[in-house]
Amino acid sequence: MKTVLITGASRGIGRELALAFGKAGYAVGVNCLREEAKAQTVVQEIIQAGNPNADIFVGDVRDSLKVRQLMDAFVKRWNSFDVLINNAGITRDCTLLKMTNGEWNDVIDTNLSGTFWCVREAARLMSPNKKGSIINIVSIMGVRGGYGNANYAASKAGVIGLTQTAARELGRLSIRVNAVLPGFHKTDMSAHLSKEIETKVMSEHILGTSTQVSDLSSFLLGLSENQSISGQVFSVDNRIA
Ligand code: NAP
Repeated sequence: MKTVLITGASRGIGRELALAFGKAGYAVGVNCLREEAKAQTVVQEIIQAGNPNADIFVGDVRDSLKVRQLMDAFVKRWNSFDVLINNAGITRDCTLLKMTNGEWNDVIDTNLSGTFWCVREAARLMSPNKKGSIINIVSIMGVRGGYGNANYAASKAGVIGLTQTAARELGRLSIRVNAVLPGFHKTDMSAHLSKEIETKVMSEHILGTSTQVSDLSSFLLGLSENQSISGQVFSVDNRIA
C-alpha cells in the first residue's frame, strides 16, 4: 500500500486531493493547522468510501520541530512514505507600499519556509528507501508576479527554485521533486477576491472556463506514480503565464 501525506488537507484543494488519493487506494495523512474538525471529516469520508487507511496529522508547517514530529508519526503509522504533497498555503494580499512586516513574514513563513521544512524532513525519511515523490503546489503568480501579492508571488517563486534544487540534490536517491501550478479554484483562499478581479481572472482562460479540481487530482496521481520525471514545473491550467 502506498502512502501520501498532504499538508493543508482540511479544506479547498488539499481536501479534494486527499479524497482522490484515498479513492485510489493510498493511505492518506491529512494535515491541517486549525480546522481539525474539517480534517476529521475528510478522514471519515475516505474511510466511508471503503479505504480504512486515513488519519489526521495536525501541525503547523511554520514550525520545523512540529513538522519533524508529524512526519515521524506519519511514518510510524504506516511504515512507509511514498508521496508528500506540500499544499498548505496562505495569502495576505496588499500592495507593497502598504504591506506590513507581519503580512510579508506570515506568507513567507508558511508558503516558503514551511515547504522547505517539509521537503527536508521528507527527504530524511525517504532517503533510506531510495524512493519517493515530493510535489510542491505553487501558483501562476510565482512565475509572472501579480498585483497586490508580492509576498505570495515571492513565496511561490521561491518554492520553484527550492523544487529545482531539491530535485538536483535528491535525484541520486531516486527521490523525485516537482512543482505544480493549479489553475483558479474557488476556495476559502480565493473567496476574498472582488467580483471585478474574479471576472478579470476568468477572462484570461483561453478555454473560457477554469480547471476542474478532478483534473488536478488525476494529474497529481499520475505524477506521483511516474518514475522518470523530476525537477519540473507543470501548469494544470488554461491560462498562459
Ligand atoms: P485554502 O482553501 O485556504 O486551504 C488552505 C489549507 O492550508 C487549509 O487546509 C489550512 O489548514 C492549511 N494551512 C494554512 N496554514 C497552515 C500551516 N501553517 N500549517 C498547516 N496547514 C496550514 O487554500 P486553497 O485555495 O485550497 O490552496 C491550496 C494551495 O493551492 C495553496 O498552496 C495555494 O497557494 C495553492 N493555489 C491555490 C489556487 C486557488 O485558486 N485556490 C491557485 C493556485 C495555487 P486549516 O484549515 O487548519 O486552517
